[in-house]
Amino acid sequence: GEAVHKICSGQVVLSLAVALKELLENSLDAGASAVDIRLREYGSELIEVVDNGIGIHPNNFEALALKHYTSKLRDFSELEGIATFGFRGEALSSLCAVGQLVVVTRHESEPCGSKLIFDKMGVLQERVPCPRQVGTTVTLTNLFSSLPVRQKEFHRNLKREFSKATHLLSSYCLISTNVKISCVNQTKKGRTTFLCTQNNSTIRENISCVFGPKQLSTLLEIVMTEPSQDILEEFKIENQYENIFRLEGYISSCEHGSGRSSADRQFIFINSRPCDLSKIIKLTNEIYHRYNAHQYPFVLLNILLPKQSVDVNVTPDKRLIFFEHEKSLLATLKCSLTKIFENIPS
Ligand code: ADP
Ligand code: MG
Repeated sequence: GEAVHKICSGQVVLSLAVALKELLENSLDAGASAVDIRLREYGSELIEVVDNGIGIHPNNFEALALKHYTSKLRDFSELEGIATFGFRGEALSSLCAVGQLVVVTRHESEPCGSKLIFDKMGVLQERVPCPRQVGTTVTLTNLFSSLPVRQKEFHRNLKREFSKATHLLSSYCLISTNVKISCVNQTKKGRTTFLCTQNNSTIRENISCVFGPKQLSTLLEIVMTEPSQDILEEFKIENQYENIFRLEGYISSCEHGSGRSSADRQFIFINSRPCDLSKIIKLTNEIYHRYNAHQYPFVLLNILLPKQSVDVNVTPDKRLIFFEHEKSLLATLKCSLTKIFENIPS
């Protein structure tokens, strides 16, 4: 019933950050080259994500926000190697339960757009034609209004929730080189663009857009180095070392002043998908601390792995990812970072 749906959905959409992440991922999955994220009052009044992706086909309108509806999994075997961000079909359904969801979309095959209004259960209530370029706008108002305790908590911690969301969105901004993303917050005091990136950019340009040219000037490129024998032993890689991955990215140089006073800019990706990999973060900080004891590095690390060795289906927010060859990867990371830092003239 409705109560159960509300509770479960509250778990999927835990926060402003997760709501925005889900909508942005849908836009990226739809092949958008431009995504505009608009908030009113830090998201408490409205969140809106506008994209120029392929749009939603009318055949999918009815089921769009129903639980477990997804257009992205054609067959179970695909679960093994997912390229799209979405595949569970839970985001829109959950968003309906925690706020008022309106979708305006025009599929590339359609002459005109449609405005779709959904109820709390994700059932399509209203469907009216309306003008729209090809693409999709998803609007959510009154986030968490159906969960009074969550809403109160959300309003009380608005700035903190907003900064968590900014951090999560910035990881997508950094890694998206083929998409122009802009994030704007409108308050009574005015409009602020809190994040933006350009189209056809490099990761370096994205870092500069998001954190400024000064951040970029302190960074070293991560160059992958195969682990030495002692490191292989340290990581107890007895049999053969399996190198099926690639490491790419940037890290702060270890000169004093190049790092940061907190671990606030650390971004790990697997196959360009932002994720939480605490072991990798921990090892990175440990190595960095040997050269710069009181600071934390900026780090952006993209781990490229064959799709079949990644399992993203671990937690509902898909941030926790399992993958094979973890030990080999940690050993390689250790060797690579050590080499980079050792080469720095002091
Ligand atoms: P999932 O992303 O896991 O498939 P969602 O609940 O996030 O599930 O979305 C449900 C479906 O709605 C998607 O599979 C997709 O077909 C459609 N959809 C949602 N947002 C967009 C968008 N911005 N552009 C095109 N299609 C979308
Ligand atoms: Mg999705």
